[in-house]
Parts: sequence; structure tokens; C-alpha cells
Amino acid sequence: MTVNQKGLCKGCVESVIVTEEIIQELIKEAEENPTVIVSDEVYLARLKTCESCPSLQYGTTCAHSGCIVRYRAKFKDKSCPFAGKPKWDKVS
Ligand code: SF4
Repeated sequence: MTVNQKGLCKGCVESVIVTEEIIQELIKEAEENPTVIVSDEVYLARLKTCESCPSLQYGTTCAHSGCIVRYRAKFKDKSCPFAGKPKWDKVS
């Protein structure tokens, strides 16, 4: 599978249900560019928020963006897409 690093969302994969292997591959790819990713502390805090959010689907995917949260949460320039009240923010 070819992975589009810029925007892995449901439009980029055949299904919103993805395997652990693919998620691991995406995370590894994101970590190859340390300048664009958040610290482990921020990453884990973001994931904790997603894990307790009713919008998390299949344990992997945000219902609002269609993104795999374990991937999206890696990036400094991404924020929670919850309309009107993001649950986590971009990091400058
Ligand atoms: S990104 Fe935001 S809306 Fe989506 S699952 Fe995480 S906390 Fe919920």
C-alpha cells in the first residue's frame, strides 16, 4: 500500500477500518521527520483525549475528520476537528 503522508483520511484509504500494521507504518513514517511532530508528552495527552471522546470510531478513527487519530495526533500543525470546540490544539 502506498501511504500518503500529507493527508491520510478516509478518502485516501479503501476503508476507515485499518490494520494495526498500517497504523504502525504510518506512525513510523511520521516520525521520520522530527521537525513536524509533537513531543511524546503532547502526543500521549492528545491520544488520551481521543480515547475518551465519543467521536472516536472503531477505536482508531475520528468521526469528524475521518483521520486515524494515532497518525493525526503526531503532527504539530494538526488540531482536533471537533466543530467549534477543538479538544486539542496545534502546537506552534
Ligand atoms: S480528534 Fe477530537 S473529535 Fe476526533 S476523536 Fe479526537 S478528541 Fe474526538
